[in-house]
Amino acid sequence: MTTIATATGPVNAAELGVTLVHEHLRSRRESVAVQFPHLFDEGRDLERALLQVEAARAHGVRTLCDATVPGIGRDARFARTVAERTGVHIVVGTGFYTMNEVPPYFAIRSIDHMADAFVHDAQVGIQGTDIRAGFLKCVTGEPGLTPGVEHTLRAVARAHRRSGLPIMTHSNAREGTGLQQQDLFETEGVDLRRVLIGHSGDTDDLEYLVALLERGSFIGFDRYGLERWGQHEFLSTERRNRMVLALCGMGFAAQLMVSHDYPCYLDSIDPTTQAREHPNWSMTYLFDAVIPALRAAGVTDVQIRAMMIDNPRRWLETRTAY
Ligand SMILES: [Zn+2]
Repeated sequence: MTTIATATGPVNAAELGVTLVHEHLRSRRESVAVQFPHLFDEGRDLERALLQVEAARAHGVRTLCDATVPGIGRDARFARTVAERTGVHIVVGTGFYTMNEVPPYFAIRSIDHMADAFVHDAQVGIQGTDIRAGFLKCVTGEPGLTPGVEHTLRAVARAHRRSGLPIMTHSNAREGTGLQQQDLFETEGVDLRRVLIGHSGDTDDLEYLVALLERGSFIGFDRYGLERWGQHEFLSTERRNRMVLALCGMGFAAQLMVSHDYPCYLDSIDPTTQAREHPNWSMTYLFDAVIPALRAAGVTDVQIRAMMIDNPRRWLETRTAY
């Protein structure tokens, strides 16, 4: 029996059920949050998270991966409180969120030293708790493979090989950085079938998506409800759905995962503005609009089950022998 580490302890993989693989209970830069806690309202943050996670639970969600890793305010105790109050299994990650530099502490030390820190989270516990990490996360954004990003990706790859935890990435689909991530992981000997290339669904370049899939990775249609951000246009639900439909038709349903990337609180946008500019964005939009539309377009129940239950479970539970 395989167990998965969650904020409230190990859970039998067979019990994970419907899983939202990329959401955020709260996302904020530690530099402000730790130094100026009076600017934040812990009670409101918790209320917002409980509201979303409870609503998701009412739609059958049993597990949620909190993609908030170090760099954007990971908080294992906060995750545990939400898990205890809602009954939803929350998988906490480790790794580091940066699109450019790593903090000087890591920059002057070896890649393996950073990997040690991630392995500690996987094997001992996060932030002084006994909550263990269930996945690793790293980011390649618009600046591409900067020295800090490469340091982080290599550390995540090495921590993956040592701990067995799967890898989730944030990629920039418009720039095609998912393929670069796969290239780099390959140089570290990573089994690409253990990797989820996140935010791939932000493009409808079918050739690019197939190239990622043919190398064995999972890809994330994990920003449903987010159609634009600042000056960046992402994709409408209809265009995202067309890609899911096409890829299911090509036999790739076993490598697709769906989620929202919904932040219950995000420091880079005012909550009122977030609600006004992104009216569909929530932790339940998939159930309200996306799944019904996919079904109507011909995606089968077996394929939907694969995207929402089986694929997240396989991604979380499988351990490659290195
Ligand atoms: Zn995210």
